[in-house]
Amino acid sequence: MKELEQKILTEGKVLAGGVLKVDAFLNHQVDVKFAFEMAKEWKKAFCDENVNKILTIESSGIALATPVALEFEVPLVFAKKHVSSNIASSDLYKASVHSFTHGNTNDVVVSKKFLSPADRVLIIDDFLANGEALKGLIDICAQASATVVGCGIAIEKAFQGGGDKLRKLGVRIVSLARIASMTDNEVVFCR
Ligand code: 5GP
Repeated sequence: MKELEQKILTEGKVLAGGVLKVDAFLNHQVDVKFAFEMAKEWKKAFCDENVNKILTIESSGIALATPVALEFEVPLVFAKKHVSSNIASSDLYKASVHSFTHGNTNDVVVSKKFLSPADRVLIIDDFLANGEALKGLIDICAQASATVVGCGIAIEKAFQGGGDKLRKLGVRIVSLARIASMTDNEVVFCR
């Protein structure tokens, strides 16, 4: 998506350690109108898949997944990183996710009430790097015997390889911008 590539070039900043900061429009301040434009792209890509649920992971995924849920007119579920004390662990689907940006591993959970074998799930996230977050969300869907129709990603850092590993396993991934390489003064997109 050309407009996303342009925004990455003009508003993004490459930090040490292979992290792209896009907090001006994606994951701190949110360009809501632009988030709706991205949602339309995923709607086009997955319109024939009978999607009946959107799944993301807190917190950055939520702002992005909300307009997608609106486009498909289906509920949005977000995996939580903190388990509320009022939910028994037997009522939760759980997966361990290693965070690329924080360097730690967290359990993420979804209540069993909100995913079922009848669900056809589109997973949405802001970034795809090593693929750990997607793997965790796909695992949670498998625990629920829900069908993952695919994943919509805003920015795939293709050089980290997570996307291609998952594609080889048969996961359909639609990334709106794919970065081949990046340094602090140059971001190169896959062509
Ligand atoms: P993965 O699990 O694929 O290694 O990384 C994806 C997750 O890590 C995303 O949910 C996102 O929050 C975070 N992430 C990975 N790379 C970046 C990055 O370059 N910039 C930002 N802001 N977040 C990232």
